[in-house]
Amino acid sequence: MDKAPALTKEDLIKLAEEHAQDGNSVDVVKLANRFGIKVYEYPFGEGVSGAVRKKENGEVSIYISDQDSVARQRFSIAHELAHAVLHKDLVDSHKVIKRSKNDFSNIEIEANKLAEEILMPEKAISRFIKEENLDKNAEINSSIIQKIAEAFKVSTMVAIIRLRNLNYNVPYISYA
Ligand SMILES: [Zn+2]
Repeated sequence: MDKAPALTKEDLIKLAEEHAQDGNSVDVVKLANRFGIKVYEYPFGEGVSGAVRKKENGEVSIYISDQDSVARQRFSIAHELAHAVLHKDLVDSHKVIKRSKNDFSNIEIEANKLAEEILMPEKAISRFIKEENLDKNAEINSSIIQKIAEAFKVSTMVAIIRLRNLNYNVPYISYA
């Protein structure tokens, strides 16, 4: 059987956009499945949220903590999927990459950034903002942030980071 062609970051973002249900949250499990990757819950315990592992038979699987919230599990799936695409060599050789709380290495930062792009595709966000009758420069207040976080099933922190990276006007106040 031929090997599936290596998927690029652009493929992943494009597919994520297609998987945005009703223009909102992306079904990340289905998205992983499209890449031939299965997702399992795993009792990691404290400190680890997810991992990606390549088995001896070549199958790639994503494991997420069974104790995390849905928003965090979704982020972990997107993050591990990002590793599978961005850090394929590492996944191929190390066999497992774990996601722990205080790891701020470059590959973790890269995976987080792509995870944010997968969970909140630019087109889906721009559609959402339009439907709220806001323009690109409008101030995104805390109630809109809350609405976006709920619609895209992400934490408010992830929503804020993503919106700022897309140059939306999110004021620097705390959203307690
Ligand atoms: Zn990671």
